[in-house]
Amino acid sequence: MSVVTSRFGEAMTTPYETIIGLEVHVQLQTRTKLFCGCPTTFGLPPNSATCPVCLGLPGALPVLNRHAFQLALRAAAALNCQIPQRTKWDRKNYFYPDLPKGYQISQYDQPLGGEGYLDIPRRIGIIRAHLEEDAGKLTHEGNLTLVDLNRAGMPLLEIVGKPELTSPEEAKIYLEEMAGLMRDIGVSDCRMEEGSLRCDANVNIRVGDEVTPIVEIKNLNSFRFLERAVRYEASRQYERFQRDSSFRFGKVPKQTWGWDEVAGVTRPQREKEEAADYRYFPDPDLVPIRISPEQVAAARAEVGELPSQARERLASQYGLSSYDVGVLMGMGRTAIAYFDRASAACGDSKTACNWITNQVAAVLKETNTTLDAFALSAERLGGLIAAQKRIGLSRQQALDVFAKMIAEPLDADAAISALGVTVVSDDSAIVEAVRRAMAANPKAVSDYRKGKKAAANSLKGAVMKELRGAGRADVVDRVLQTELERHE
Ligand SMILES: [Zn+2]
Repeated sequence: MSVVTSRFGEAMTTPYETIIGLEVHVQLQTRTKLFCGCPTTFGLPPNSATCPVCLGLPGALPVLNRHAFQLALRAAAALNCQIPQRTKWDRKNYFYPDLPKGYQISQYDQPLGGEGYLDIPRRIGIIRAHLEEDAGKLTHEGNLTLVDLNRAGMPLLEIVGKPELTSPEEAKIYLEEMAGLMRDIGVSDCRMEEGSLRCDANVNIRVGDEVTPIVEIKNLNSFRFLERAVRYEASRQYERFQRDSSFRFGKVPKQTWGWDEVAGVTRPQREKEEAADYRYFPDPDLVPIRISPEQVAAARAEVGELPSQARERLASQYGLSSYDVGVLMGMGRTAIAYFDRASAACGDSKTACNWITNQVAAVLKETNTTLDAFALSAERLGGLIAAQKRIGLSRQQALDVFAKMIAEPLDADAAISALGVTVVSDDSAIVEAVRRAMAANPKAVSDYRKGKKAAANSLKGAVMKELRGAGRADVVDRVLQTELERHE
Protein backbone atom coordinates (compact mmCIF):
# COMPACT_ATOMS: atom_id res chain seq x y z
CA MET A 1 0.00 0.00 0.00
CA SER A 2 1.25 3.43 -0.77
CA VAL A 3 0.11 6.93 0.14
CA VAL A 4 0.58 9.51 -2.58
CA THR A 5 -0.57 13.10 -2.79
CA SER A 6 -3.10 13.79 -5.48
CA ARG A 7 -3.00 16.88 -7.66
CA PHE A 8 -5.63 18.36 -5.37
CA GLY A 9 -3.35 17.95 -2.39
CA GLU A 10 -5.21 15.22 -0.52
CA ALA A 11 -3.52 11.97 0.30
CA MET A 12 -4.74 9.07 -1.83
CA THR A 13 -4.15 5.47 -0.99
CA THR A 14 -3.43 2.92 -3.68
CA PRO A 15 -3.24 -0.82 -2.93
CA TYR A 16 0.20 -0.93 -4.60
CA GLU A 17 3.48 0.96 -4.78
CA THR A 18 4.47 2.35 -8.15
CA ILE A 19 8.12 1.94 -9.18
CA ILE A 20 9.30 4.32 -11.89
CA GLY A 21 12.68 4.81 -13.53
CA LEU A 22 13.08 7.41 -16.27
CA GLU A 23 15.43 7.47 -19.22
CA VAL A 24 15.64 11.08 -20.26
CA HIS A 25 16.94 12.14 -23.67
CA VAL A 26 18.24 15.68 -23.75
CA GLN A 27 19.25 17.26 -27.05
CA LEU A 28 22.44 19.25 -26.55
CA GLN A 29 22.39 22.90 -27.56
CA THR A 30 25.04 22.81 -30.28
CA ARG A 31 25.00 24.55 -33.66
CA THR A 32 26.00 21.37 -35.51
CA LYS A 33 25.35 17.65 -35.19
CA LEU A 34 27.36 15.21 -33.06
CA PHE A 35 29.68 13.83 -35.75
CA CYS A 36 29.27 16.14 -38.78
CA GLY A 37 28.85 19.82 -39.63
CA CYS A 38 25.13 19.74 -40.49
CA PRO A 39 23.04 22.38 -38.68
CA THR A 40 20.78 21.43 -35.77
CA THR A 41 18.24 24.16 -36.57
CA PHE A 42 14.66 23.03 -35.92
CA GLY A 43 12.10 23.05 -38.73
CA LEU A 44 14.34 22.97 -41.81
CA PRO A 45 12.87 21.38 -45.00
CA PRO A 46 13.03 17.55 -44.78
CA ASN A 47 16.46 16.05 -45.54
CA SER A 48 18.05 19.47 -46.19
CA ALA A 49 20.33 19.24 -43.13
CA THR A 50 22.16 16.09 -44.16
CA CYS A 51 25.59 15.07 -45.49
CA PRO A 52 27.44 11.83 -46.32
CA VAL A 53 28.24 11.29 -42.61
CA CYS A 54 24.70 11.50 -41.21
CA LEU A 55 23.26 9.78 -44.30
CA GLY A 56 25.58 6.88 -43.55
CA LEU A 57 27.17 6.82 -47.02
CA PRO A 58 30.06 4.36 -47.43
CA GLY A 59 33.47 5.80 -46.62
CA ALA A 60 32.20 8.84 -44.71
CA LEU A 61 33.94 9.29 -41.36
CA PRO A 62 32.54 10.84 -38.17
CA VAL A 63 34.38 13.63 -36.34
CA LEU A 64 33.35 14.35 -32.75
CA ASN A 65 31.77 17.76 -32.04
CA ARG A 66 33.95 19.13 -29.23
CA HIS A 67 31.24 21.49 -27.93
CA ALA A 68 28.75 18.62 -27.62
CA PHE A 69 31.25 16.71 -25.54
CA GLN A 70 31.84 19.73 -23.28
CA LEU A 71 28.09 20.21 -22.76
CA ALA A 72 27.65 16.52 -21.94
CA LEU A 73 30.49 16.73 -19.44
CA ARG A 74 28.88 19.80 -17.85
CA ALA A 75 25.56 17.94 -17.55
CA ALA A 76 27.30 14.95 -15.97
CA ALA A 77 28.97 17.29 -13.47
CA ALA A 78 25.62 18.93 -12.66
CA LEU A 79 24.12 15.48 -12.02
CA ASN A 80 26.96 14.68 -9.63
CA CYS A 81 28.00 11.79 -11.87
CA GLN A 82 31.31 10.05 -11.44
CA ILE A 83 33.39 11.05 -14.43
CA PRO A 84 35.90 8.46 -15.64
CA GLN A 85 39.34 9.22 -17.07
CA ARG A 86 38.49 7.45 -20.27
CA THR A 87 35.32 7.09 -22.30
CA LYS A 88 34.70 5.46 -25.66
CA TRP A 89 32.22 5.04 -28.49
CA ASP A 90 30.26 1.94 -29.41
CA ARG A 91 28.02 0.91 -32.24
CA LYS A 92 24.50 -0.12 -31.31
CA ASN A 93 23.38 -2.24 -34.24
CA TYR A 94 19.80 -2.52 -35.39
CA PHE A 95 17.89 -2.15 -38.60
CA TYR A 96 15.29 0.55 -38.96
CA PRO A 97 14.35 2.79 -41.91
CA ASP A 98 15.25 5.94 -39.96
CA LEU A 99 18.77 4.67 -39.29
CA PRO A 100 20.66 4.62 -42.61
CA LYS A 101 23.98 3.35 -41.21
CA GLY A 102 22.32 0.30 -39.65
CA TYR A 103 23.79 1.30 -36.31
CA GLN A 104 23.70 4.19 -33.90
CA ILE A 105 26.90 5.61 -32.39
CA SER A 106 26.44 5.45 -28.63
CA GLN A 107 28.37 4.60 -25.47
CA TYR A 108 27.99 1.17 -23.95
CA ASP A 109 30.30 0.04 -21.17
CA GLN A 110 32.33 3.22 -20.62
CA PRO A 111 29.85 6.13 -20.57
CA LEU A 112 31.14 9.62 -19.86
CA GLY A 113 28.92 9.86 -16.76
CA GLY A 114 28.77 7.17 -14.10
CA GLU A 115 26.62 7.06 -10.96
CA GLY A 116 25.20 10.34 -9.77
CA TYR A 117 22.01 11.90 -8.42
CA LEU A 118 19.49 14.71 -8.76
CA ASP A 119 17.86 16.30 -5.70
CA ILE A 120 14.22 17.14 -6.44
CA PRO A 121 14.59 17.88 -3.40
CA ARG A 122 14.40 14.17 -2.46
CA ARG A 123 17.56 12.54 -3.78
CA ILE A 124 16.97 10.37 -6.87
CA GLY A 125 19.85 8.23 -8.09
CA ILE A 126 21.27 8.40 -11.61
CA ILE A 127 22.71 5.17 -13.04
CA ARG A 128 24.60 6.69 -15.95
CA ALA A 129 24.66 9.41 -18.59
CA HIS A 130 25.97 8.81 -22.09
CA LEU A 131 26.21 10.59 -25.41
CA GLU A 132 24.62 9.20 -28.54
CA GLU A 133 23.35 10.32 -31.91
CA ASP A 134 19.65 10.57 -32.67
CA ALA A 135 17.94 8.65 -35.48
CA GLY A 136 15.79 10.22 -38.20
CA LYS A 137 12.07 10.74 -38.18
CA LEU A 138 9.38 8.70 -39.90
CA THR A 139 6.02 10.16 -40.86
CA HIS A 140 3.25 7.80 -41.89
CA GLU A 141 0.77 9.13 -44.48
CA GLY A 142 -1.77 6.58 -45.65
CA ASN A 143 0.23 3.74 -47.22
CA LEU A 144 3.36 5.86 -47.44
CA THR A 145 6.11 6.32 -44.92
CA LEU A 146 8.22 9.45 -45.32
CA VAL A 147 11.77 9.55 -44.01
CA ASP A 148 13.35 12.79 -42.80
CA LEU A 149 16.98 12.44 -41.79
CA ASN A 150 17.46 15.98 -40.47
CA ARG A 151 17.39 14.57 -36.94
CA ALA A 152 19.85 11.78 -37.75
CA GLY A 153 23.08 12.57 -35.92
CA MET A 154 21.63 15.15 -33.51
CA PRO A 155 23.58 15.10 -30.22
CA LEU A 156 21.61 13.47 -27.42
CA LEU A 157 22.54 12.90 -23.82
CA GLU A 158 20.69 9.92 -22.37
CA ILE A 159 20.33 10.11 -18.61
CA VAL A 160 19.25 6.85 -17.04
CA GLY A 161 17.71 7.28 -13.61
CA LYS A 162 17.39 4.64 -10.90
CA PRO A 163 13.89 3.22 -10.41
CA GLU A 164 13.40 5.30 -7.28
CA LEU A 165 10.44 7.47 -8.25
CA THR A 166 7.30 6.40 -6.44
CA SER A 167 4.35 8.20 -8.03
CA PRO A 168 3.26 9.71 -11.36
CA GLU A 169 3.46 13.17 -9.74
CA GLU A 170 7.01 12.58 -8.59
CA ALA A 171 8.04 11.35 -12.05
CA LYS A 172 6.70 14.60 -13.51
CA ILE A 173 8.53 16.70 -10.91
CA TYR A 174 11.77 14.83 -11.63
CA LEU A 175 11.48 15.54 -15.35
CA GLU A 176 10.63 19.19 -14.71
CA GLU A 177 13.60 19.57 -12.36
CA MET A 178 15.85 17.86 -14.90
CA ALA A 179 14.66 20.18 -17.68
CA GLY A 180 15.10 23.27 -15.47
CA LEU A 181 18.64 22.22 -14.56
CA MET A 182 19.67 21.49 -18.17
CA ARG A 183 18.24 24.84 -19.27
CA ASP A 184 19.93 26.71 -16.41
CA ILE A 185 23.37 25.36 -17.20
CA GLY A 186 22.98 26.02 -20.93
CA VAL A 187 23.12 22.36 -21.94
CA SER A 188 19.75 22.17 -23.69
CA ASP A 189 16.73 24.34 -24.42
CA CYS A 190 14.60 21.31 -23.44
CA ARG A 191 11.81 22.28 -25.84
CA MET A 192 9.59 19.23 -25.66
CA GLU A 193 7.46 20.41 -28.58
CA GLU A 194 10.60 20.39 -30.76
CA GLY A 195 11.79 17.02 -29.49
CA SER A 196 14.78 18.35 -27.57
CA LEU A 197 13.56 16.67 -24.38
CA ARG A 198 11.89 13.25 -24.42
CA CYS A 199 11.68 10.44 -21.97
CA ASP A 200 10.97 6.75 -21.65
CA ALA A 201 9.37 5.57 -18.42
CA ASN A 202 10.03 2.12 -16.95
CA VAL A 203 7.04 1.27 -14.81
CA ASN A 204 6.05 -1.61 -12.60
CA ILE A 205 4.29 -2.01 -9.28
CA ARG A 206 4.85 -3.79 -5.98
CA VAL A 207 1.94 -5.43 -4.22
CA GLY A 208 3.03 -6.81 -0.87
CA ASP A 209 6.06 -8.98 -1.64
CA GLU A 210 5.26 -9.39 -5.30
CA VAL A 211 6.42 -7.27 -8.21
CA THR A 212 4.99 -7.04 -11.73
CA PRO A 213 7.07 -7.15 -14.95
CA ILE A 214 8.57 -3.86 -16.16
CA VAL A 215 6.88 -2.06 -19.02
CA GLU A 216 8.84 0.65 -20.79
CA ILE A 217 6.64 3.43 -22.15
CA LYS A 218 8.51 5.01 -25.05
CA ASN A 219 8.85 8.57 -26.26
CA LEU A 220 6.83 10.61 -23.82
CA ASN A 221 7.12 14.18 -25.03
CA SER A 222 5.20 16.23 -22.49
CA PHE A 223 5.24 16.46 -18.71
CA ARG A 224 1.51 15.86 -18.59
CA PHE A 225 1.68 12.80 -20.88
CA LEU A 226 4.34 11.32 -18.62
CA GLU A 227 2.19 11.72 -15.53
CA ARG A 228 -0.95 10.39 -17.23
CA ALA A 229 0.82 7.46 -18.90
CA VAL A 230 2.46 6.31 -15.68
CA ARG A 231 -0.77 6.57 -13.71
CA TYR A 232 -2.67 4.62 -16.33
CA GLU A 233 0.03 1.97 -16.68
CA ALA A 234 0.30 1.36 -12.92
CA SER A 235 -3.44 0.85 -12.58
CA ARG A 236 -3.48 -1.38 -15.68
CA GLN A 237 -0.74 -3.53 -14.18
CA TYR A 238 -2.62 -3.80 -10.89
CA GLU A 239 -5.75 -4.92 -12.67
CA ARG A 240 -3.76 -7.54 -14.63
CA PHE A 241 -1.88 -8.62 -11.49
CA GLN A 242 -5.14 -9.37 -9.72
CA ARG A 243 -6.54 -11.71 -12.37
CA ASP A 244 -3.33 -13.27 -13.77
CA SER A 245 -0.97 -15.11 -11.41
CA SER A 246 1.67 -15.45 -14.14
CA PHE A 247 1.92 -11.66 -14.45
CA ARG A 248 4.94 -11.46 -12.16
CA PHE A 249 8.43 -10.03 -12.45
CA GLY A 250 10.80 -12.58 -14.00
CA LYS A 251 7.99 -14.60 -15.59
CA VAL A 252 7.24 -12.10 -18.38
CA PRO A 253 10.08 -10.27 -20.21
CA LYS A 254 10.29 -6.50 -20.20
CA GLN A 255 7.99 -5.02 -22.82
CA THR A 256 7.96 -1.83 -24.83
CA TRP A 257 4.70 0.08 -24.91
CA GLY A 258 3.58 3.43 -26.25
CA TRP A 259 1.21 6.06 -24.90
CA ASP A 260 -1.89 6.92 -26.91
CA GLU A 261 -2.82 10.35 -25.62
CA VAL A 262 -6.12 10.52 -27.53
CA ALA A 263 -7.42 7.24 -26.15
CA GLY A 264 -5.66 7.78 -22.82
CA VAL A 265 -4.19 4.27 -22.78
CA THR A 266 -0.82 2.54 -23.12
CA ARG A 267 -0.44 0.00 -25.96
CA PRO A 268 2.15 -2.72 -26.65
CA GLN A 269 4.72 -1.92 -29.36
CA ARG A 270 7.37 -4.64 -29.62
CA GLU A 271 9.35 -6.99 -27.45
CA LYS A 272 12.17 -5.11 -25.82
CA GLU A 273 15.61 -6.02 -27.18
CA GLU A 274 18.23 -7.13 -24.71
CA ALA A 275 21.66 -5.52 -24.93
CA ALA A 276 22.99 -8.67 -26.63
CA ASP A 277 20.55 -8.17 -29.51
CA TYR A 278 22.25 -4.91 -30.37
CA ARG A 279 25.66 -6.57 -30.79
CA TYR A 280 27.44 -3.59 -29.29
CA PHE A 281 31.09 -3.24 -30.25
CA PRO A 282 33.61 -0.36 -30.10
CA ASP A 283 33.32 2.03 -33.04
CA PRO A 284 36.55 1.67 -35.05
CA ASP A 285 36.06 5.12 -36.64
CA LEU A 286 36.34 7.06 -33.38
CA VAL A 287 39.18 7.13 -30.88
CA PRO A 288 38.45 6.77 -27.16
CA ILE A 289 38.61 10.04 -25.21
CA ARG A 290 40.82 10.80 -22.23
CA ILE A 291 39.20 13.16 -19.77
CA SER A 292 41.70 15.19 -17.78
CA PRO A 293 41.13 16.34 -14.17
CA GLU A 294 41.33 19.92 -15.52
CA GLN A 295 38.45 19.25 -17.90
CA VAL A 296 36.37 17.82 -15.05
CA ALA A 297 37.18 20.81 -12.84
CA ALA A 298 36.25 23.19 -15.66
CA ALA A 299 32.93 21.39 -16.19
CA ARG A 300 32.13 21.58 -12.47
CA ALA A 301 32.97 25.29 -12.43
CA GLU A 302 30.66 25.92 -15.41
CA VAL A 303 27.77 24.35 -13.51
CA GLY A 304 27.88 26.94 -10.72
CA GLU A 305 25.20 26.84 -8.05
CA LEU A 306 22.96 23.79 -8.34
CA PRO A 307 19.21 24.18 -7.79
CA SER A 308 19.46 22.17 -4.56
CA GLN A 309 22.12 24.58 -3.30
CA ALA A 310 20.15 27.63 -4.43
CA ARG A 311 17.05 26.31 -2.66
CA GLU A 312 18.94 26.08 0.61
CA ARG A 313 20.66 29.42 0.22
CA LEU A 314 17.47 31.35 -0.62
CA ALA A 315 15.84 29.98 2.52
CA SER A 316 18.80 30.51 4.85
CA GLN A 317 20.19 33.79 3.48
CA TYR A 318 16.86 35.60 2.93
CA GLY A 319 14.39 33.62 5.02
CA LEU A 320 12.11 33.10 2.02
CA SER A 321 9.31 30.57 2.46
CA SER A 322 9.55 27.31 0.57
CA TYR A 323 6.61 28.49 -1.53
CA ASP A 324 8.43 31.69 -2.56
CA VAL A 325 11.62 29.76 -3.24
CA GLY A 326 9.67 27.33 -5.44
CA VAL A 327 8.02 30.08 -7.50
CA LEU A 328 11.25 32.02 -7.90
CA MET A 329 13.23 28.94 -8.91
CA GLY A 330 10.48 27.99 -11.33
CA MET A 331 11.48 31.11 -13.27
CA GLY A 332 14.99 29.71 -13.78
CA ARG A 333 18.50 30.52 -12.72
CA THR A 334 18.48 34.05 -14.18
CA ALA A 335 15.59 34.88 -11.85
CA ILE A 336 17.68 33.92 -8.83
CA ALA A 337 20.54 36.20 -9.92
CA TYR A 338 18.04 38.97 -10.67
CA PHE A 339 16.48 38.51 -7.23
CA ASP A 340 19.90 38.59 -5.53
CA ARG A 341 20.66 41.93 -7.15
CA ALA A 342 17.21 43.48 -6.58
CA SER A 343 17.32 42.44 -2.91
CA ALA A 344 20.74 43.96 -2.46
CA ALA A 345 19.51 47.20 -4.04
CA CYS A 346 16.42 47.59 -1.83
CA GLY A 347 17.30 45.64 1.30
CA ASP A 348 13.84 44.03 1.39
CA SER A 349 14.10 40.52 -0.02
CA LYS A 350 10.51 39.47 0.69
CA THR A 351 9.11 42.45 -1.25
CA ALA A 352 11.67 41.96 -4.03
CA CYS A 353 10.59 38.32 -4.34
CA ASN A 354 6.93 39.35 -4.54
CA TRP A 355 7.60 41.88 -7.27
CA ILE A 356 9.62 39.43 -9.34
CA THR A 357 7.27 36.47 -9.03
CA ASN A 358 4.15 38.58 -9.62
CA GLN A 359 4.56 41.80 -11.61
CA VAL A 360 7.82 40.99 -13.39
CA ALA A 361 6.69 37.44 -14.22
CA ALA A 362 3.39 38.80 -15.58
CA VAL A 363 5.11 41.32 -17.87
CA LEU A 364 7.55 38.68 -19.14
CA LYS A 365 4.65 36.38 -19.94
CA GLU A 366 2.56 39.09 -21.62
CA THR A 367 5.41 40.34 -23.75
CA ASN A 368 6.94 36.88 -24.29
CA THR A 369 10.36 38.08 -23.12
CA THR A 370 13.01 36.47 -21.00
CA LEU A 371 14.52 38.06 -17.92
CA ASP A 372 17.84 38.47 -19.78
CA ALA A 373 16.13 40.77 -22.25
CA PHE A 374 13.88 42.51 -19.71
CA ALA A 375 14.16 46.31 -19.94
CA LEU A 376 14.06 46.93 -16.18
CA SER A 377 17.31 45.96 -14.47
CA ALA A 378 17.32 44.34 -11.04
CA GLU A 379 19.01 47.43 -9.60
CA ARG A 380 16.30 49.77 -10.90
CA LEU A 381 13.56 47.46 -9.60
CA GLY A 382 15.32 47.54 -6.23
CA GLY A 383 15.30 51.34 -6.47
CA LEU A 384 11.54 51.33 -7.08
CA ILE A 385 10.93 49.06 -4.08
CA ALA A 386 13.05 51.32 -1.86
CA ALA A 387 11.25 54.44 -3.14
CA GLN A 388 7.85 52.86 -2.61
CA LYS A 389 8.70 52.30 1.02
CA ARG A 390 10.38 55.66 1.57
CA ILE A 391 7.68 57.81 -0.04
CA GLY A 392 4.77 55.53 0.75
CA LEU A 393 3.55 54.99 -2.82
CA SER A 394 0.20 53.25 -3.05
CA ARG A 395 0.07 49.93 -4.87
CA GLN A 396 -1.41 51.55 -7.96
CA GLN A 397 1.16 54.34 -7.97
CA ALA A 398 3.99 51.85 -7.67
CA LEU A 399 2.58 49.87 -10.60
CA ASP A 400 2.39 53.06 -12.70
CA VAL A 401 6.01 53.88 -11.88
CA PHE A 402 6.98 50.27 -12.67
CA ALA A 403 5.37 50.54 -16.13
CA LYS A 404 7.06 53.88 -16.74
CA MET A 405 10.45 52.41 -15.79
CA ILE A 406 9.97 49.51 -18.21
CA ALA A 407 9.09 51.92 -21.01
CA GLU A 408 11.91 54.38 -20.33
CA PRO A 409 15.39 54.00 -18.86
CA LEU A 410 14.63 56.17 -15.83
CA ASP A 411 15.53 55.51 -12.22
CA ALA A 412 12.68 55.39 -9.70
CA ASP A 413 12.86 59.04 -8.58
CA ALA A 414 13.00 60.32 -12.16
CA ALA A 415 10.03 58.12 -13.12
CA ILE A 416 8.06 59.34 -10.09
CA SER A 417 8.60 62.99 -10.95
CA ALA A 418 8.02 62.38 -14.68
CA LEU A 419 4.62 60.90 -13.81
CA GLY A 420 3.93 63.72 -11.35
CA VAL A 421 3.07 61.20 -8.67
CA THR A 422 2.35 62.92 -5.39
CA VAL A 423 1.82 61.33 -2.06
CA VAL A 424 -0.27 62.95 0.65
CA SER A 425 1.43 62.12 3.89
CA ASP A 426 0.12 65.04 5.91
CA ASP A 427 -1.79 63.59 8.85
CA SER A 428 -4.48 66.26 9.01
CA ALA A 429 -5.39 65.89 5.32
CA ILE A 430 -5.59 62.13 5.74
CA VAL A 431 -7.67 62.39 8.91
CA GLU A 432 -10.12 64.59 6.98
CA ALA A 433 -10.33 62.04 4.18
CA VAL A 434 -10.77 59.13 6.59
CA ARG A 435 -13.63 60.88 8.38
CA ARG A 436 -15.37 61.71 5.10
CA ALA A 437 -15.00 58.12 3.93
CA MET A 438 -16.36 56.78 7.23
CA ALA A 439 -19.31 59.16 7.12
CA ALA A 440 -20.13 58.03 3.59
CA ASN A 441 -19.88 54.32 4.46
CA PRO A 442 -21.65 53.82 7.80
CA LYS A 443 -22.37 50.16 7.03
CA ALA A 444 -18.68 49.29 6.61
CA VAL A 445 -17.90 51.17 9.83
CA SER A 446 -20.49 49.30 11.86
CA ASP A 447 -19.45 45.98 10.27
CA TYR A 448 -15.89 46.67 11.34
CA ARG A 449 -16.92 47.55 14.83
CA LYS A 450 -18.95 44.34 15.03
CA GLY A 451 -15.76 42.42 14.32
CA LYS A 452 -15.68 42.16 10.53
CA LYS A 453 -12.12 43.41 10.20
CA ALA A 454 -12.16 42.90 6.43
CA ALA A 455 -14.52 45.89 6.19
CA ALA A 456 -11.44 48.08 6.72
CA ASN A 457 -10.31 47.23 3.18
CA SER A 458 -13.34 48.75 1.50
CA LEU A 459 -12.97 51.80 3.74
CA LYS A 460 -9.34 52.11 2.75
CA GLY A 461 -10.41 52.05 -0.88
CA ALA A 462 -12.85 54.86 -0.16
CA VAL A 463 -10.15 56.91 1.59
CA MET A 464 -7.79 56.45 -1.34
CA LYS A 465 -10.56 57.61 -3.66
CA GLU A 466 -10.99 60.73 -1.52
CA LEU A 467 -7.25 61.36 -1.82
CA ARG A 468 -7.30 60.55 -5.56
CA GLY A 469 -5.07 57.54 -4.92
CA ALA A 470 -2.30 59.66 -3.53
CA GLY A 471 -2.54 58.92 0.18
CA ARG A 472 0.55 57.57 1.83
CA ALA A 473 -0.49 53.95 2.38
CA ASP A 474 1.07 53.35 5.77
CA VAL A 475 -0.29 56.65 7.15
CA VAL A 476 -3.77 55.88 5.79
CA ASP A 477 -3.65 52.47 7.50
CA ARG A 478 -2.61 53.98 10.79
CA VAL A 479 -5.15 56.84 10.78
CA LEU A 480 -7.99 54.60 9.62
CA GLN A 481 -7.20 52.14 12.37
CA THR A 482 -7.19 54.87 15.01
CA GLU A 483 -10.45 56.39 13.80
CA LEU A 484 -12.21 53.03 13.62
CA GLU A 485 -11.09 51.96 17.06
CA ARG A 486 -12.28 55.28 18.51
CA HIS A 487 -15.86 54.61 19.51
CA GLU A 488 -18.21 57.54 19.17
ZN1 LIG B 1 25.59 15.55 -41.59
